[in-house]
Amino acid sequence: MTCFLTALFPTENKALELCGKAAQGEILKGYAPGAQKILFDDREYMLTPSGNFLLAFGRDEAASKKLTVVESNGNIKDYSLNIAATKWDIQDIKGIPQKKVTPSAADQKEISRERSDLKKALAKGLNKNYWEKGFIMPVKGRISGHFGGQRIMNGKKMNPHQGTDIAAPEGTPVKAASNGIIRLSGGNYFYSGNTIVIDHGHRLFTIYAHLKETSVKPGDYVKQGQIIGKVGKTGRVTGPHLHWGASLNGIRFTPESLLHMNNADFCFNL
Ligand SMILES: [Zn+2]
Repeated sequence: MTCFLTALFPTENKALELCGKAAQGEILKGYAPGAQKILFDDREYMLTPSGNFLLAFGRDEAASKKLTVVESNGNIKDYSLNIAATKWDIQDIKGIPQKKVTPSAADQKEISRERSDLKKALAKGLNKNYWEKGFIMPVKGRISGHFGGQRIMNGKKMNPHQGTDIAAPEGTPVKAASNGIIRLSGGNYFYSGNTIVIDHGHRLFTIYAHLKETSVKPGDYVKQGQIIGKVGKTGRVTGPHLHWGASLNGIRFTPESLLHMNNADFCFNL
C-alpha cells in the first residue's frame, strides 16, 4: 500500500521510498519525488520524470552504502542504506566437457570476443523506462540453479553463477521478460552460446543464454511476452536450459528479484 499512497499524496518532506529487498544480489525500485540526481556508491542512476529509479546490489555488496539524493532545489540528502547478507549455495556441476572448463589458447580468443560483445551490449544508457511495466519469467520450467551460487565444475572452483537457470526441453519458446530494445542476438559464444540482450532503459538489461536459435535482431523493439528465441544447449552446458541474467549499471543481480519489483508489499521508507 505504501507505494500507492505515497504516489497519490506526496509528503511535504519528500520521503524517499524503496520497493524490494535491500540485500546482496537484489534490485530495488526507488521513488524520490523532486529529485534531479541519484548517486549510489558514487555512481549516478537515471531517474524518470516522476522520480522513479532503480538500484542493484552485487553478490558481494558491502553491508552499508551511501545513497545520495540531489533535489531539484539543489539540496543534497544522504541516506545510509543497510544491505542484508545473502547466503549463497554451492553448485557442484559434473559432466561438463573438459575443454569448456580449461579453455585452450584458441578458445581464449573466442572468450575475448564474447566478453567484448557483451560489454558493448551492456554499455548503452537508453533514457527510457520500459522496465516500469514489470517482468515475467521468460520460460516456464524448474529453476535448476540460482544466481550467486559458488560453482565447482568437474571438481574445479569457478566464478559464481551470474544468473538463474531454468530447465526446459530444447525448442521451448523463450519470451521477452519485459518491453525493450534488442542489443545482441546470436553469437554462438564459448560460454553463453547463442545469446540475447534486451535493453529495458536506465541501464537495465536482461540476458538470455544457451539458445538453440534467436528470432530477433539488434535494434528490434520487443514487447513483454513476445517470443525471442528457443531454449537450447549452446555454449557451456550439461543439458538444455535457459540461463537468464540481469544487469543494472554494470552490476549483476538475480533476475528473480525483477518479478516482484511492482509489488507494493515490498515497499519501505528511508
Ligand atoms: Zn546459468
